[in-house]
Amino acid sequence: MPTKRRWRGGLPNGVNPCRRCWQPILQAFEDFAWHARGVADGTAAPTLLIVEDDRALSAMLAEVFTDEGYQVDVACDGQQGLHRGLTGRYDAMILDRGLPVMDGVEVVAALRSRGIPTPILVLTARGAIADRVDGLDAGAEDYLVKPFEVPELLARIRALLRRPDADSTLRVDGLCLDRVTRTVSGHRVGADVELSEREAALLAALMVAPARVFTRGQLLNAAFEGVDTPGVVDTYVHYLRRKLGRGIVRTVHGTGYRLGSE
Ligand code: CA
Repeated sequence: MPTKRRWRGGLPNGVNPCRRCWQPILQAFEDFAWHARGVADGTAAPTLLIVEDDRALSAMLAEVFTDEGYQVDVACDGQQGLHRGLTGRYDAMILDRGLPVMDGVEVVAALRSRGIPTPILVLTARGAIADRVDGLDAGAEDYLVKPFEVPELLARIRALLRRPDADSTLRVDGLCLDRVTRTVSGHRVGADVELSEREAALLAALMVAPARVFTRGQLLNAAFEGVDTPGVVDTYVHYLRRKLGRGIVRTVHGTGYRLGSE
């Protein structure tokens, strides 16, 4: 990773230096050269999104990662984190499990169902196995239990950055969903079937955690941003069943839905 240094190249021959006039131009040139060098040799500063509601912890992490050469953005609740994750381009995310407004695991599921492959490390204060499994099932790559050692977190984020880009295709038993073309294939559906954006987002939310039973509210958060009527989930389950067969989604009475098994 390039270290940012002062420009020492001097001015063209014959130019009388006037610091006040030249400084902004030299600074802009220096910034451009630093960035271009990074892009050219593949070492542009990695971008990191930290979603953490403990302000003291997020400020400390932001400082540590900035010192390590990362470009850091911070969000302090689940909804803000989801919005940034959907609209920004990040090389990795650190996501707290327990967040206001929207739970960390729901944020992971929502990002994955929209095809966002950014590698995610979930921070959890709870060491229970079920909490870790939830995070990984929802599509996170790694987790770390609080309290943690900062060098371990740094090492794990470096490991996430070395991963090859996540695949845009989800595969569960005889079912395959390409989240870019929104095409479903595999022996469970026979011929390829094209889905609408919302149908694909709903199916993806179910496929990233095929064993999980979702409430309507969780599926609404994961696949229907900006919609607040849970009935829309039932409507789109109906559309999916019409296109892909009744068994594609299983109703779990009293709770909600899960992906249907073969
Ligand atoms: Ca928290």
